[in-house]
Amino acid sequence: MRVVLLGPPGAGKGTQAQIIATELAVPAISTGDIFRANVSGQTDLGQQAKSYMDAGDLVPDEITVAMVTGRLAEPDAVDGFLLDGFPRTIAQAEQLRDSLSELGHALDRCLELVVDEDELVRRLSGRRMLVDGEWVQRDDDKPETVRHRLEVYREQTAPLSGFYEQAGLLSRIDAIGEVDEVTARAMRALGRDGDGGSTGVPAAV
Ligand code: ADP
Repeated sequence: MRVVLLGPPGAGKGTQAQIIATELAVPAISTGDIFRANVSGQTDLGQQAKSYMDAGDLVPDEITVAMVTGRLAEPDAVDGFLLDGFPRTIAQAEQLRDSLSELGHALDRCLELVVDEDELVRRLSGRRMLVDGEWVQRDDDKPETVRHRLEVYREQTAPLSGFYEQAGLLSRIDAIGEVDEVTARAMRALGRDGDGGSTGVPAAV
């Protein structure tokens, strides 16, 4: 299955991506994680991306698209993937559609995680990551940057919801609630019941 996870910062994309990808037996590909690994590894790509990330802006499409296209060409992603954090602009979505179509492939679904903005701000300002055994705040989770990332989301990424709806690929998921409840909603939207079945039809009781 080829799935895109869409949703604002703080919607829980990273958490759900790991779980859903494991259920689907496909790799979870997070552009944010790949960029952060390149920043800490001080690669050329990391150096190009860092100033945009620190400001809460999007890394330019040319850089991001080239990185994702390379990643999707790796053997583990040939038969399926779950993308977290890409596409984030209409131009990225068009490039993804075109490069998949050149390979004779297409997306199966876009899952949009829906959370209201007050809840997002609360989640992001309290969020910490474990780095080398210590809980630290991501530089771009500081309150001013969070507000800017939400604006960037509204302006550049939210239109993807309409893009995928028109393509008949969109499922909107209420992403408030326990992690496993949200996963169950996502699996239902993918036509999987989460009990090992693949038909979306609940098992007889
Ligand atoms: P979040 O979803 O919490 O905002 P991510 O980890 O997905 O965070 O992304 C962190 C940062 O990495 C973004 O603010 C942006 O600078 C950069 N980034 C990630 N994915 C993309 C993308 N598809 N296009 C451009 N920039 C991206």
